[in-house]
Amino acid sequence: MEQIRDTFVEWLRDAHAAEKQALTMLGSQAGRIENYPALKARIEQHIQETESQVAALEGLLERYSTGSSMIKDATGRMMAFAQGMSGMTASDEVVKGGLFSYSFEHMEIASYQILIATARRLGDTEAVSVLERIFDQEVDMANWLQDNMDSVVNEYLTRLEQNVEAKR
Ligand code: MG
Ligand code: FE
Repeated sequence: MEQIRDTFVEWLRDAHAAEKQALTMLGSQAGRIENYPALKARIEQHIQETESQVAALEGLLERYSTGSSMIKDATGRMMAFAQGMSGMTASDEVVKGGLFSYSFEHMEIASYQILIATARRLGDTEAVSVLERIFDQEVDMANWLQDNMDSVVNEYLTRLEQNVEAKR
């Protein structure tokens, strides 16, 4: 049980670091988008959700008496992945951003599924419900991206064809 508990706390910390990273990336994406208002609005909504996810994860970590001082920025692992985001200066930045976000949300879905299974093993029903709420927000964001990817791509291609600023 203690091994499982320690593993759970470590994975919670990973998720916390990933969400902090997500806040930075979503913030810079939303700040740069000019011509894709629906995408910008959805990202801004997800920034709000992500802020509440960070707080919820900190709440769970505190319950396992690892105060915020123990919340290390184990972002190293995430950083490499986030490099994919360096498509930011690309001429197709909005499309590359969509590609990255689509992948990132699915990675988050997998991470929370893992955390939920682990919380169940610990019999921590409160953590299960907190994590399920976060999981649902990630699924909603992933579904939105799936449903709106075609329109973003088509808008990008149309702008390209019309020689108006398309990249963001
Ligand atoms: Mg998240
Ligand atoms: Fe997310």
